[in-house]
Amino acid sequence: MESRTKELIVISGKGGTGKTSIVASFAALAQRAVVADCDVDAADLHLVLNPRIEKRGTFSGGSRARIKPGHCTACDICEELCRFDAIYYDGPGNGRVPKTFRVDPIACEGCGVCAHFCPEHAIDFAPVVNGQWFVSETRCGSMVHAKLGVAEENSGKLVSLVRVEAKRVAERRNLDLVIIDGSPGIGCPVIASITGADLVLVVTEPTLSGLHDLGRVADLTEHFGIKTLVCVNKWDLNKGVTLEIETQAKRRGLKVAGRIRYDRAVTDAQIKMRSVVECHNSGAAADIRQLWAGMSLALQKSDFSRMGIPS
Ligand code: SF4
Ligand code: SF4
Repeated sequence: MESRTKELIVISGKGGTGKTSIVASFAALAQRAVVADCDVDAADLHLVLNPRIEKRGTFSGGSRARIKPGHCTACDICEELCRFDAIYYDGPGNGRVPKTFRVDPIACEGCGVCAHFCPEHAIDFAPVVNGQWFVSETRCGSMVHAKLGVAEENSGKLVSLVRVEAKRVAERRNLDLVIIDGSPGIGCPVIASITGADLVLVVTEPTLSGLHDLGRVADLTEHFGIKTLVCVNKWDLNKGVTLEIETQAKRRGLKVAGRIRYDRAVTDAQIKMRSVVECHNSGAAADIRQLWAGMSLALQKSDFSRMGIPS
């Protein structure tokens, strides 16, 4: 049976456009939704929602090679085959050779060639733990999030894992919506964030790079055929560019879902570790409420009867 749970992804062309503040406010307004932080390379939604971890799991994005010094005969085959230059002749000696080869775990790309061709079967090739994922409770409902290890890659796989787990939590709790803080940019993590999503909100700022980034992100969502809305954050800092962004969005068939004014209240909310709409009735909070109402119009075209969205 097809899942009823829908996914709303909030993304931006680059980091720092305010999308996490918007996602946190959406989480507070939606009430009956699961929120997921898929910006795993720079996760900060937890700073606002203060999650209480209830379940955790490990994440492995791939395998890495490790030479067993006691078994290595220093034949040099692995070093010659490794096209990532990850193998060095500076490992400890053993009873047969004064020095052995060693794998640099940072340089190893996990292709497995060395382990396959080692005549002594001296190379372990096993999955490594690259990060952790969590299911938590917050004052705004359930949250699924993750932490990628330092200098670890494969965040696209971790994003997919967080999405799957968030959808599972929503289905188990009979909730219809997952609100996702997506990865910025147009790389692998953002593709993993949006593929198969029901609705994307692109948050942009009124700068020339924001205008350019909107085009790149819109190309991406168009490629995947995902319904896309646009919101200009701090729109009043450059009203001319805001108009250009909105004109470009409309020309591309993207709906402008709202504008959020520049407001010190956003920074104040961050300092208080609260979402903007949970703090006093600021102008930005009013704009975000209106944005959420606008989003609801787009979402209502699906069956969101239990979501608690204002009509
Ligand atoms: S191929 Fe195996 S035996 Fe040869 S140097 Fe590498 S680890 Fe050692
Ligand atoms: S797994 Fe691939 S990248 Fe890593 S050390 Fe072996 S050959 Fe090099």
